[in-house]
Amino acid sequence: MEVILGIDLGTTNSEVAVVQGGRPILLSDDGDPIVPSVVGLDPAGRLLVGRAARNQFVMSPERTVRSIKRKMGQDVTVPLGDQSFTPQEISAIVLRALKERAEKALGRPAAKAVITVPAFFNESQREATREAGELAGLEVVRIINEPTAAVLTYDPHPPEMERLLVYDLGGGTFDVSIAQVEQGVVEILSSHGDTSLGGDDFDQLLFDLVSSRFETEHGIDLRGSLVARSRLFSAVEEAKKRLSSEPVTVIEEAFIAEKDGMPVNLSMEITREEYERLIEPLLTRTLKCLDDAMEDAHLQAQQIDKVLLVGGATRTPLVHRLLGSRLGRPVHSEIEPDLAVAMGAAVQAGLIAGIEVGAVLVDITPYTLGIEVLGVQAGFESEYCFSPIIERNTPLPATRTEIYSTTADYQKEARIRIFQGEGEDTRLNALVGEFIIQGLADVPAPNQVLVRFDLDLNGILRVTATERATGLVRQVVIDNMMERFRKRMHAGALARIESLFDEWSERGESQETPEGTGEVLESGPMVGGGPSHLAEDDSELRDAIREADALIGKAGRVESGAHADDAAELQGLLADLRSAMARRSLDDIRRISAEVENVVFYLEDR
Ligand code: AMP
Repeated sequence: MEVILGIDLGTTNSEVAVVQGGRPILLSDDGDPIVPSVVGLDPAGRLLVGRAARNQFVMSPERTVRSIKRKMGQDVTVPLGDQSFTPQEISAIVLRALKERAEKALGRPAAKAVITVPAFFNESQREATREAGELAGLEVVRIINEPTAAVLTYDPHPPEMERLLVYDLGGGTFDVSIAQVEQGVVEILSSHGDTSLGGDDFDQLLFDLVSSRFETEHGIDLRGSLVARSRLFSAVEEAKKRLSSEPVTVIEEAFIAEKDGMPVNLSMEITREEYERLIEPLLTRTLKCLDDAMEDAHLQAQQIDKVLLVGGATRTPLVHRLLGSRLGRPVHSEIEPDLAVAMGAAVQAGLIAGIEVGAVLVDITPYTLGIEVLGVQAGFESEYCFSPIIERNTPLPATRTEIYSTTADYQKEARIRIFQGEGEDTRLNALVGEFIIQGLADVPAPNQVLVRFDLDLNGILRVTATERATGLVRQVVIDNMMERFRKRMHAGALARIESLFDEWSERGESQETPEGTGEVLESGPMVGGGPSHLAEDDSELRDAIREADALIGKAGRVESGAHADDAAELQGLLADLRSAMARRSLDDIRRISAEVENVVFYLEDR
């Protein structure tokens, strides 16, 4: 049977899964199923993907790209080293790494995939995702919504009909969906969301807080330096995660800036309470979406049987509290919030491949699609009236046709502008494409034109306009941004990604550096000994950094029980050690590690 991969292409992390033995399993490398959605180039221009790329972000942000999902569907490029890449190309690199990981784990080629997207991704964003798949050498057999995928990991045969609420808060997007599961049929009743709200925004708020406090204290704006900025971003993200399990945390970064030729360290305490005050307004926005989804599904809170928390940011305790109080009962994660979407994508892939996994999916469109017409709005004639053709929450696939008329006599052509959204005025909605039907019959108005919308299971729309009198589909000129973009970029992009991967595939994913070192061991210029000694030095350096990392963890535990003077001395040494790690100075790491070890030994003994 052919292999179809299930892929969660996330803002922060991505995963790949397949169905084996009737169950979805995640494919991992060295036991870790998570691939950070980060792409980089090392100083020699070699490709880095996943953890290796994420680890170099702090020191080399100009050679690293992260959170590219937020730019999918936009006609932009992002710089990476001295080159620039489209969002599709960057996503394609992540997908290609997942494909290779899967092929290695399965021992056979994998050419097809189901890829998940936020329910609220629009046409361009979905097309861009499909294109990224193609550039990665994958045929994208289906694009499914992330919350829908999460529901597929649940038992499709509950003893009684169940209604599930999926609250999906990832790095960059938020979705809430309500599903009904009964006798193997999973039906999505409603979906709402915000494509630009997620854990990254929490990081930004914390970043702003810390940098303004730092500026007040030291008169230095950390936002002015790219390296300081990226170091601080990584530090606040880690602090944010710690605040999910600890009431207070200290953000520490040695030598983050310089003043009068002297290094300045960052050391700032943040309480969970302060952090929660920062993010509460954003979480309140998610509750508004939740209310809308409940209203669309015609349900009250007490009619929800289960709540599924999906996405890493749902580990935030305030999410549990706010959701619990809105739903009138405690809320907790039943599944790994990071992994459910990929597993659900694998279930969908299994269903397409004809594997018995026991669920039939009825998905919906979470937004209304229609065209712009002349009409009357609030008593006045307006050229911006939105005429819905496929209403929000319509089950997929959906086909709807509406009749429209020309307004001018002998009108030769009509422009069809397609919008997505819920506003009565098209200026409130998103333009997703437009085309002109040309060569209409030479007749007085009204001349009828049928506009047909076909929305497929991927949420991708095809529009056809037909002149009713002649029965012929007239020349349709699609003037879609993605279409133009695609033609221009596709051919070159394929060759470029292929050449980047030539060398990466040989090195293999497992050559990634250990997590948490903040280092890319294969990058060269700062390591002593010159290029000819790099390989040897690297392995020693790798071991030294790993040991130093463990030592820092141990020192942190000892420090909490130490006398203030001893703790301060230890902190100073740890700052030196981190700096030596950042400089990749093997001698210094060894020397300072030995000193730290002595102090830790002394403190443990007391
Ligand atoms: P996802 O897109 O589902 O991988 O979610 C990634 C987001 O979850 C990022 O913003 C992470 O910083 C955030 N995240 C991961 N772990 C935690 C945690 N323990 N507490 C709070 N946020 C987290």
